[in-house]
Amino acid sequence: MLYLSTRNNKISKKPSEAVLEGIAKDGGLYMPHSFEGVEFPLKDLEKMSNKEISAQVISLLFKNDEMLSNPKGELAGAYDLVSKAYDGKFDDEDYAPLAKVADAYIMELYHGPTCAFKDVALQLLPQLISSAKKSTGMKDEIVILTATSGDTGSAALSGFSNVDGIKIIVFYPRNGISAVQERQMVSVDGKNTCVCSVGGNFDDAQSGVKNIFASLDLPKGVVLSSANSINIGRLAPQVAYYFKSYRDLLLNKEIKMGELVNFVVPTGNFGDILAGYFAKKMGLPVGQLVCASNTNKVLTDFFENGVYNKNRSFYITKSPSMDILISSNLERLLYLVCGAEKCAYYMNELKEKGEYKLEKEELDKIRNEFDAGFCDDEETLETIKKVYENEKYLMDTHTAVAWNVYEKWQKKTGNKNKTVVLSTASPYKFSSSVMNALGQEYGSEFDAVNKLYEYTGAKIPGSLVNIESKPIVHTVTVEKDEMLSFVDKMVNKKKWME
Ligand SMILES: *Cc1c(COP(=O)(O)O)cnc(C)c1O
Repeated sequence: MLYLSTRNNKISKKPSEAVLEGIAKDGGLYMPHSFEGVEFPLKDLEKMSNKEISAQVISLLFKNDEMLSNPKGELAGAYDLVSKAYDGKFDDEDYAPLAKVADAYIMELYHGPTCAFKDVALQLLPQLISSAKKSTGMKDEIVILTATSGDTGSAALSGFSNVDGIKIIVFYPRNGISAVQERQMVSVDGKNTCVCSVGGNFDDAQSGVKNIFASLDLPKGVVLSSANSINIGRLAPQVAYYFKSYRDLLLNKEIKMGELVNFVVPTGNFGDILAGYFAKKMGLPVGQLVCASNTNKVLTDFFENGVYNKNRSFYITKSPSMDILISSNLERLLYLVCGAEKCAYYMNELKEKGEYKLEKEELDKIRNEFDAGFCDDEETLETIKKVYENEKYLMDTHTAVAWNVYEKWQKKTGNKNKTVVLSTASPYKFSSSVMNALGQEYGSEFDAVNKLYEYTGAKIPGSLVNIESKPIVHTVTVEKDEMLSFVDKMVNKKKWME
């Protein structure tokens, strides 16, 4: 397998190089040179374990690369990495249980260490990077640099904590994340971790990080990388759970082999839903992929009329992990639909004018496989309440966006295929919003966790039990114009914590 830049097919890399680089030199994202020869062996799916499914996906997408080398073959190599990543890390033996709710299925992807779906990818990414580093003979120390609006930071810290040869620095907006999210991060005590708040909002932190990538003079032997979903090593692990949910539906006799299944995905950066499209390209019988957005509905508009326009108001919503106006991974879909040259043109338009418009044939192609819808905050909270009261099922705000969009979409289209709705966060991670939705009182945000338990009896994830008493290890804070000098100091410092 080779990986090509979405903006220039002449830039071509081995999988391990693509994983180490994260983003191509020309600003493009890495994509498989072809999906031929990466068909998933569907006939074996029913017999496969969760880890075997993940290993199969990784070995197909990263075929013929030393990062998977193993005396027993690449599939065994991939299985080793998957085991190191996942064994003992999830609350439940089944890392993504499927719940039947009304006439659909909810895939709960939040049973990992930080209670959001990003754990699935960010537990495996460090193993992929470590293995790629070894197999390419890279001696440099890798420093992962991440700006987070909450979920990415804690999941990345959990995944990279105490991984040899890699360090991680996470920046978060000082007043822009929830108390639970903040405590999850500042209590991580890995010796290779650094967590720092920034005086500013998420965009300030994000721009600061971009500026560091562009202008920091690194000491010899140190390279920077990213844990963001532009890295193909973060996308690939997510493909597996689409196959996994299909296997569960087969085993539960809900579907027959070959039957089309729809997936509704709460979307921000377009990474999760794109992984579903990869699964389809690899042979999974996927019907429609439905992209669910909150009030920041730039994607809903795009799928409607082919115009991507980021020049609009930005809203802070109850589903903050989806508050995004530039969905980076959409570039990968554009590349598949219109090729590198056109993709580079559209990305340049986006940069220069903040907007681009697809040709009709291009939009038609996309609309054959994707639908989209959105849901505002009021509908989000109503949905949580309604589903809890009618179905006794408790969901978080991001999942509620997807569920609401599913119901509206199903009604509009009358589509009869079975549908899986992806649940991306534990209701306990967004306890205060969920309590508001249920019309219940609470004191602090930490208090909301306990009150939500008292009211619903739903199990609190292990990592959130008594979260408010976890010792604070990281207390550094900088202003936005100090980020560069701060990272400069850190990359020149050998030991971060005693
Ligand atoms: C990151 C995130 C999303 C959005 O996923 P993308 O891959 O960026 O589309 C949705 N829900 C939650 C809870 C998240 O943390």
